[in-house]
Amino acid sequence: MSTKRTAEDPSATSKRSKTNTTSQPKPRNKRWSAVSMSANLDKSYKEARDYNAWKCLCQARMDGVRPNDDEEYDDDDEDEDDDEDEDEDGDEDANDGEPRPKKAKCDGGKTCLCSIPASEHPEHPFTITVAGYHKFIHQLMHTDMRTPDFFNMYIFNDFAGYGILEVLQNLVLDFVEAKDDWKEQWAVCEAIPFYWMSGDLMPFSMLDSDTVHSTWGLVGHMFVTMLANLESRSLLKPDSEVKNLGVIMSLYLQLASELRAHNCLSEYGAEDESFNASHFDAYVLAYAKKYQIKMQGPSKLAKLVKSVEEEFDEDEEERIELPAPSADPWKWAAAYKAYAKELGAISTVKKKRMGGDSFDITAWSSAERKRQAFDKKDPLSKEERDAIEQGMLLQVG
Ligand SMILES: [Zn+2]
Repeated sequence: MSTKRTAEDPSATSKRSKTNTTSQPKPRNKRWSAVSMSANLDKSYKEARDYNAWKCLCQARMDGVRPNDDEEYDDDDEDEDDDEDEDEDGDEDANDGEPRPKKAKCDGGKTCLCSIPASEHPEHPFTITVAGYHKFIHQLMHTDMRTPDFFNMYIFNDFAGYGILEVLQNLVLDFVEAKDDWKEQWAVCEAIPFYWMSGDLMPFSMLDSDTVHSTWGLVGHMFVTMLANLESRSLLKPDSEVKNLGVIMSLYLQLASELRAHNCLSEYGAEDESFNASHFDAYVLAYAKKYQIKMQGPSKLAKLVKSVEEEFDEDEEERIELPAPSADPWKWAAAYKAYAKELGAISTVKKKRMGGDSFDITAWSSAERKRQAFDKKDPLSKEERDAIEQGMLLQVG
């Protein structure tokens, strides 16, 4: 296995560090094989998650810049925006290739704010729950386990892309299984824009457009369902106990805008037009306006809001209306069911249902891995296989 990134996960602080997570037996999710890193990560997440502790995030993280990103710092896709308006929101994109000011750099908490408990900086507005942060970091690890390059393997062209599809489906399953636990649902929703911003999802964007559009449509549908759920609990309000409402809602505006720019968002939606994926940022903004949520975070925010407003608010016919609060105002249950039926299984590979760990290479038998390895040897050593079997976390990539 080769080295890709420095570990950020506190439970795996060095390359191939091992953490014993076997202390408390918990019911095992049926999604997982008998032995897999996916299962170990899930268990580790569940044992350590904390919905009530909050961490700071620095501005660079809000703008999708992560540690070790130095070369990519200058935001290329800004050039594709073809808009002439000059940074009225004060961002510093028009800097002619000069590196951005040092203060904006994220080093994963070494000098930036990213590892500091929010309680130490009560004035700092950009925060994430510790659970949401771990959920995010774990998705990067789930992705690594599904990346053949890191195991010196070639399986088939789109394998890594389907692996990410499986990761996204697992996030949706996490949300569905947490139907009575809005805090866990919020952690899932917090993680997704950061997962997107990590850049790790690019192989997924290369899959066929039906799969990509339906999946991102489902994710957008999930987030408006989350907001409706918070609405029904009177948690959509300026002083909500969900401290980062405006931050995460803003990141979904950014997510929608970037998905659109990558042709990953389309007219997927309910037949009765109760939900249209290509409008999902407009729904988010409508909730923010209805409940006076202060939108904040991304440096492009003013631009993002303006573009949604221009498209929807000023055009009577396109005007967005939010559904009246009810048990399932966005008809999420039906949408999820339809998606799972159509895209849960992928017939070309051995994947039989939504999510799971079919694409997690650590879930395979040694013989299966050998067959696909360049050198016909199992990329995992005996010691590593034993460690996974014992529930430890291995860092690959
Ligand atoms: Zn940072």
